[in-house]
Amino acid sequence: MKNNGWARRDLAALWHPCTQMKDHEQFPPIPIKRAQGVWLEDYDGKRYLDAISSWWVNLFGHCNPRINAALREQLDRLEHVLLAGFTHEPAILLAERLIQLAPKGLARCFYADSGSAAMEIAMKMSYHYWRNLGRANKTRFITLANGYHGETLGALSVGNVALYKETYAPLLMPAISVASPDCFYREPGESCAEYSRRMFIPMEQALEKHAAETCAVIVEPLVQCAGGMRMYDPVYLALLREACDRHGVHLIADEVAVGFGRTGKMFACEHAAIAPDFLCLGKGLTGGYLPLSAVLTTDEIYQAFYGGYATLRAFLHSHSYTGNALACRAALAALDIFEQDKVLENNQMLARAMHDVSARFTHHLHVAEVRQTGMILAIEMTKDKASRTPYPWQERRGLTAARHALSQGVLLRPLGDVIYFMPPYVITAEEIAHMAETARQGIILATRD
Ligand SMILES: *Cc1c(COP(=O)(O)O)cnc(C)c1O
Repeated sequence: MKNNGWARRDLAALWHPCTQMKDHEQFPPIPIKRAQGVWLEDYDGKRYLDAISSWWVNLFGHCNPRINAALREQLDRLEHVLLAGFTHEPAILLAERLIQLAPKGLARCFYADSGSAAMEIAMKMSYHYWRNLGRANKTRFITLANGYHGETLGALSVGNVALYKETYAPLLMPAISVASPDCFYREPGESCAEYSRRMFIPMEQALEKHAAETCAVIVEPLVQCAGGMRMYDPVYLALLREACDRHGVHLIADEVAVGFGRTGKMFACEHAAIAPDFLCLGKGLTGGYLPLSAVLTTDEIYQAFYGGYATLRAFLHSHSYTGNALACRAALAALDIFEQDKVLENNQMLARAMHDVSARFTHHLHVAEVRQTGMILAIEMTKDKASRTPYPWQERRGLTAARHALSQGVLLRPLGDVIYFMPPYVITAEEIAHMAETARQGIILATRD
């Protein structure tokens, strides 16, 4: 069967994520037959460069031979066993390695199956920790404007991207939202570090006002990804760590998107030399193979739950597939690649290549900013460059650029009018050049009047 046939059957049976299904009347979904490295191939034989790592999950290419081999071996030994009362080698080895890799002080690993679930867990653990200490009045969370933490009701409550949140507002718990250090809004001549430092004032004020009733501050370190790849300076994280300690409030770092080398270091918190109280990991954890997430936390927090059964202090949260053996094995194989291939060092060259091919975008009349943190590069289109006036969202300019790129065999998936690259780490310099040239043509098309 060709693309057409599969698309027809799909549209008769499926309901796709994050999609107005009517859009598919014009643009049917693309059925992918196979994939290799950064390339996807459809049933008509057309190839697409996966410039966004299949929604930020893929690290080392599709059908990576080493991850495939590790999974095959695991498959013939143990596919899954419940993680309550039982354990297995991949879950143990992975927990040990994550603890060893993570910022110092994180000593316990709790598994889940999605980034959203990891957020729910961190929030419940933080609240429960304070409750176990006799501080049940701590029930609130402080979050950043434009943040994103997933789609389940708890995660949605602490996110602030209106497009995903507004409809469900009546179902959500109220969170305390603080202005973002998002450097897109810095003054001309002001450095990102200066702006991030200045934007810490509202956070300090919120902590002063609400610390007694607050469990934790939740942030995406350095890059607010779903919020349009908006970026801020590490100084903000350093200030936040100090202030959380001073006010007796936990710090939850949501590294679901930025973890595993995306920002240039293994974890984004390392840029500020801080350790959060909860580190949430997902997406790239398994190299993009299987759904797995993890929450790392401190021994101090773990100990607050430890006691005789009758004390009723235990964390009784679970998911059916917690610590799935295949998923943990894929994650171990991905971590092996990080070690054996000196991935973070090599990525510096790739990040430089991404920078070099995108620098000239800055001169475009409708490109307000080209920004980059490590392996994430974003190009923001605006109607007016100087005032940074956005295009009316109904015009869907980003979609026009993406449509063009797709026709040229590059998969981009802009966030509104922000086009970004977040490719797998096996991309080559030539592929980066091709990706950027295609994006450039797309931007020219999308910004024509
Ligand atoms: C994607 C994402 C999540 C949610 O992860 P899912 O696996 O999609 O539930 C949470 N936080 C951040 C920062 C994300 O980018």
